[in-house]
Amino acid sequence: MSTANFDFKSGDQLSPRSILIWRIVQTAVWLIGATILTCLLFFPSVGVILFWNILIPVAPALFVLAVGVWRNVCPLATTNLLPRQLGLSKRKKLSATQLGLLNLIAVIALFVIVPLRHAVFNNNGVATGIMIIAMAAIGVTMGFFYEWKSAWCSGLCPVHPVEKLYGGNVLLSIPNANCDQCMNCVIPCPDSTPNVNPKISAKTVYHKISGLLIIGGLPGFIWGWFHVPDEHQITSLATFFGVYEIPLMGLAVTLVAYLILSNVLDAKYERKLISIFAASGVSCYYWYRIPALIGFGKFAPDGLLYSLKDVIPDWIVPIIPILTTVFFFYWLVIRKRNNKSWVVRPQFANKAENLQANLLA
Ligand code: SF4
Repeated sequence: MSTANFDFKSGDQLSPRSILIWRIVQTAVWLIGATILTCLLFFPSVGVILFWNILIPVAPALFVLAVGVWRNVCPLATTNLLPRQLGLSKRKKLSATQLGLLNLIAVIALFVIVPLRHAVFNNNGVATGIMIIAMAAIGVTMGFFYEWKSAWCSGLCPVHPVEKLYGGNVLLSIPNANCDQCMNCVIPCPDSTPNVNPKISAKTVYHKISGLLIIGGLPGFIWGWFHVPDEHQITSLATFFGVYEIPLMGLAVTLVAYLILSNVLDAKYERKLISIFAASGVSCYYWYRIPALIGFGKFAPDGLLYSLKDVIPDWIVPIIPILTTVFFFYWLVIRKRNNKSWVVRPQFANKAENLQANLLA
């Protein structure tokens, strides 16, 4: 069967040609990532624009449409999987409790790091670069011990909870360009499970809390985040911790709303409820982020990419977030779930062992 198209089924292996193409794409994206990191460290004003005002604003939409593309080419993933690709990993398996704990730490890390953008990262390229290097150091270290994506990409990465929330109804499944064979290192594998969601695994209390926090908390957290200006000078601890106030209040409000709704509604509506919260989160993000990118932000020039103030009339600006909101609610809530996973699972390394592992899952 041709491996150059997207018509993959579980267990299909990549042809040498497809592997070569994916390696070239991964290397190209890795070089782009390394260039952005270099800019952050040595040309911080350029690096901040490239990272916070170009790369990051694209990410949520990519997660909604085709998160598998990002999972295949993420430069941090490419770096962190090097020990495994080079045969240097001990390839240990994490227990369900360890994975649940990593997932919970990832959600908490997300809610700790993102407000710090207002206090530090949005105006400090060097600090942003050091944060990325620290993440790579942690991820690579974990990669020396644990199998494939289990420890970082599907464990501790603070972006992963957002991928799982937004990536519930992707456009297409693409080949898995990282794992050559499936070792069942994460059960269920977020990459290979159709229409995944943050509640897909509730094996431990850590899984349950992390699922609740990201589904219920993210929309309010995002709303709150956009109501805080960038602090250009942190003069006191109060100013520093002040950047957390509104995002955490927003988080609490939508989390409580989600808890009430999920308890009141029949269990058969749970998946729809998750989709509504996912659509609310990503819509809220673009509702504020697109105007800020083009100079119409609440705290302009915070988050500015290129000002269109003198180019487009003011009345056009509110129309853009309305259109993106309609699109995301259609895509995530109204559109029928299509049974697609982010990437296609490669063939199992050991079918008997993995059948048993799946039965125990
Ligand atoms: S496809 Fe298999 S080996 Fe790769 S991350 Fe998923 S469970 Fe692990």
